[in-house]
Amino acid sequence: MTFEELGLKSEVLKSLQELGFEAPTPIQEKAIPYLLGENSDFVGLAQTGTGKTAAFGLPLINNIENHAKAPQGLVICPTRELCLQIAKDLEGFSKHLKVAVVAVYGGTDIRRQMTDIKKGASIIVATPGRLMDLINRRAISLAEVEYVVLDEADEMLNMGFKEDIDAILETTPDTKNVWLFSATMPAEVARIAKTYMTDPLEVSIGHKNQSNENIDHIYYVVKEKDRYAAVKRLIDFNPEIYGLIFCRTRQETATVAEKLGKEGYSAEPLHGDLSQVQRDRVMDRFRKKDIQILVATDVAARGLDIDNITHVINYNLPDDIENYTHRSGRTARAGRKGESLVLINTRESGKIRAIEKQMRTTFTLGTVPNAEEICEIQLMKLINKVTTAEVREKDIEKFMPTIMAEFENMSKEEAIKHFVSTEFNRFIEYYERAGDLNASAGKGDDRGMEDRTRRRDRKGDETESGKTRFFVSIGRRDGLNPGGLLRLVCDATGLKSANVGRIDIMTSYSFFEADNDFADNILSKVNGADYEGHSVSIEVTKSKSGGGGNRGGGGGRRDGGSFGGKFQGNRDRAPRNSDGGNRRDGGFGRDRDGGRDRDGGRDRGTRSESGSREDRPRREGSFNRDRAPRRDGGSSAGGSRPRSFGKSFNKK
Ligand code: AMP
Repeated sequence: MTFEELGLKSEVLKSLQELGFEAPTPIQEKAIPYLLGENSDFVGLAQTGTGKTAAFGLPLINNIENHAKAPQGLVICPTRELCLQIAKDLEGFSKHLKVAVVAVYGGTDIRRQMTDIKKGASIIVATPGRLMDLINRRAISLAEVEYVVLDEADEMLNMGFKEDIDAILETTPDTKNVWLFSATMPAEVARIAKTYMTDPLEVSIGHKNQSNENIDHIYYVVKEKDRYAAVKRLIDFNPEIYGLIFCRTRQETATVAEKLGKEGYSAEPLHGDLSQVQRDRVMDRFRKKDIQILVATDVAARGLDIDNITHVINYNLPDDIENYTHRSGRTARAGRKGESLVLINTRESGKIRAIEKQMRTTFTLGTVPNAEEICEIQLMKLINKVTTAEVREKDIEKFMPTIMAEFENMSKEEAIKHFVSTEFNRFIEYYERAGDLNASAGKGDDRGMEDRTRRRDRKGDETESGKTRFFVSIGRRDGLNPGGLLRLVCDATGLKSANVGRIDIMTSYSFFEADNDFADNILSKVNGADYEGHSVSIEVTKSKSGGGGNRGGGGGRRDGGSFGGKFQGNRDRAPRNSDGGNRRDGGFGRDRDGGRDRDGGRDRGTRSESGSREDRPRREGSFNRDRAPRRDGGSSAGGSRPRSFGKSFNKK
């Protein structure tokens, strides 16, 4: 199909030619002819990269009268950056039509924007906050608006613009057409569609990152300190695992692999500090299944192409969402099923949402298995091993009379119990006082804005590993709320709301957290930004590297006095229950919350929704664990995990 066939004016076609647009994209093909019609309420499920701006921009330019006095078109979008981009695109499309496009967004002089509007604007491209400001100052009238475009509607709602959007739409005529674009369709976006549209055409455009349907994405919310213990449970719960654990740093990779090795798991690290020869050797052993679990960095695992990996465990989420696609794509190859398990802490649910959005997939909230579930799985594995063991009649024959004499006074049932118990008791002991590792026990999925602020109530609020915590010079008294802070940061930096973590709004100042990688960008762009007439300054209060060390802790604040003690005191406390505590068993993997089951009776229903247990493919494992050469460095030293779980349980 060509742009000519879509019914656009010759002037618009001419601009397209000059822009080098040769053929419409799928969303343009579907949307443009419809949006050129009279009544055209429309919902487009599409994201950046699909050509959605032209999908609404071309018909908008096409339909607008040249010399109207008041704005006829209104595009609302979440950030300043997007606002500028859309305005620029619209100007490009309207080059031969002289349609006046004015962009209004926060963080800059409002008076100049007011002058621009006064001069005459056919189309306004706006961020919601600034537009509300202009409406309240009566600097703009939306009474003539015929087309309202809501771009990235889900992102706008994430950023807390719900009320603003409702208020803006209330000031537009009932006869308008509403064109809504969103990458996802959460209930709030559906509500907007239902409230402001009549029988809209819905078009959904798949994304290039569409995920492999054979992968189950499951995430577990755990406390930061329980990350490692949770990984062990996931492994124990999947005795046949042939998996990759991804860590963010070399250091973390080495630490996790070493701990697992010491505790009797067949795990080895793969990271950039190893020589090429060492890496080749590890990969080769993994390929041959001499190693059951490879603990790797994203970079080191590049080029690792193995078909039957059953599980990818994300010890941490990668900084870059694209990397998650790569990680999870290591499983479920060649038509097989696979699971990508993700451990997040209570502040990272936004990241899961961002990945869902980009990959157009859904994650299931999993429950870290409890001791009983793991013991059951391991017991069944043991029974299966016993019943399927090859009996070497000839070799055992000569011992049988003595053995039978030993068992003379035991029933068959008793004898079986004894055999099973020799291996199983250690496992039971290991897990007997294990607590519930699910951080959000009883709360269910925690997502979105409310979640960010709810966390304010938490005690012991350490800055999360890999995050920087910022102090912001304005607070509630200055009209700041979590949505406002998100807008401020996202507008200034171009980051998405999902990149911002915990937010704490205090009376006269605030805090927020973001990944360390964004710290420089945030510092340079947000400092000096304007928030509703307040000049904002921010400082790093604290950052934590991935390895857990502090850098810049507490330094550089101007105003340590009033709040420093109160907040800093909490955050600087050393994590409790760290390794090396008073474990009576010499330190093997006993769960670190002191063995108390915090919440034994909580509803565990969520996991079964995923069907992950029942659907888990049965695999004939063939881990040659006992044949695998012991790791150098004496990995058995201090090997305190019951051998049987790591070794004979998993060995066929
Ligand atoms: P968007 O999804 O609107 O952000 O567009 C993504 C990129 O594709 C932008 O750089 C557009 O200029 C470009 N683009 C959109 N539609 C077309 C098309 N039909 N042909 C060529 N480039 C396009």
